[in-house]
Amino acid sequence: MTDTLLDNAVLSGDRRALARAITLVESTRRDHRAEAGALLEALMPHTGGAIRVGISGAPGVGKSTFIEALGNYVIDQGHRVAVLTVDPSSAISGGSILGDKTRMETLARREEAYIRPSPSGRTLGGVTRRSRETLLVCEAAGFDVIVVETVGVGQSETRVADMTDMFVLMLQPGGGDQLQGIKRGIMELADLIMINKADDGLEELAQKSASEYRHALQLLRPRTADWRVEVQTCSARDSVGIDHAWDTIMRHQAMLESSGQLSGLRAEQARTWMWSEVQDSLLADLKDDPDVQKHIPELEEAASSGKIPAASAAERLLEIYLKKYAGTR
Ligand code: GDP
Repeated sequence: MTDTLLDNAVLSGDRRALARAITLVESTRRDHRAEAGALLEALMPHTGGAIRVGISGAPGVGKSTFIEALGNYVIDQGHRVAVLTVDPSSAISGGSILGDKTRMETLARREEAYIRPSPSGRTLGGVTRRSRETLLVCEAAGFDVIVVETVGVGQSETRVADMTDMFVLMLQPGGGDQLQGIKRGIMELADLIMINKADDGLEELAQKSASEYRHALQLLRPRTADWRVEVQTCSARDSVGIDHAWDTIMRHQAMLESSGQLSGLRAEQARTWMWSEVQDSLLADLKDDPDVQKHIPELEEAASSGKIPAASAAERLLEIYLKKYAGTR
C-alpha cells in the first residue's frame, strides 16, 4: 500500500489500515521512520479532535478495570475510544508490568474501541515517542476519546501528562502512610484523583482517604489556573462513580476550551515533543555510532572509578561522535 492509500484508509476508519499505520509508526527501522513521518504529515490536519486523558497508578490499583468501565460508558454515550499503554518497564527492567495479561476484554470486543498495548523500546523516550504518534493516528482514524495509561516507572507519568489534556491519578483507599508514599511531583500532575475500590466495606475508608488527599492538595499549586483538582471515589468493578468521573473530564475539557487554554497547552506540548524528539534522536544516534560504542566501556569505567571527571568522559564521547560530522558543513 502506498502512503496515500494508507492515509486515506486510516481516515476512512479502516481498522486494518489503522493497525498497519501504528505498526509503521512503532517501527524503529530507518526506512520505516521516513515512511511514518510522511504518513503523519498527511494525517496531521485530521488530528487534534479528541479528548486526551492520561491515567496513572500503581499496578493492581484498578486502572484497566476503570478504563474498561469508562470506555464502555463513553461508547454508550456515542463516542469512540482508543486506549494506549505506555509501559517503559520493558526498557528499564526487561519485564513488562502492563503488557502481559489479557486486559479490558469487554471493551476490546467493541467496534467503537481500539486497544493498543505498549510498544516495546529500549528507552522511555522511544516508547513515548511512538505512543504520541499512535495517539495522532488514532485521532485521524476518528477516535474522539484517547486514554493513555501508564504505570509509575521512571518519568513515564510526566511524559504521559505531556501528551494529554487531563491527567487522572488512581489510588486505593488507605491511610496517611500511603499518602506519604506518593511522590509530590505525581500529585502535582493530577487534575483528578480517583480513589478506586470504594466497595466491599471500604466505602468509608475511601471517603476518608479522599478528604485526606483534598487536604494535602491544598498545599500544592494547581496544574491549571482555572481548575481545582478534584478527588472522587469510585468502584471500577461495580461501575460506580464512572459517570461522575466522565462528567468531570468533560467539564475540565470545556474549561480548557472556553478559556483558550487548550490550544496553548497543546502548542506548548508540541514544542516539548519537538525538543524531546531532538534529544532522543541525538542520543540514539550517538549510541548507535560504532566508534562511540567502542569507547563507551573504557570511558564509563574511567568515569565511574573516578579516574577522570564524568564531564571529561562525556566530552570525549561527544568528540568521538562529532568527528563523523567534521567537514560535512
Ligand atoms: P491495574 O493493574 O491497575 O490495571 O489493575 P486491574 O484493573 O488489573 O485490577 C487489579 C485487581 O483489582 C483485579 O483483581 C481487579 O478485579 C481488582 N479491582 C479493580 N477495580 C476494583 C474495584 O473497583 N473494586 C474491587 N474490589 N476490586 C477491583
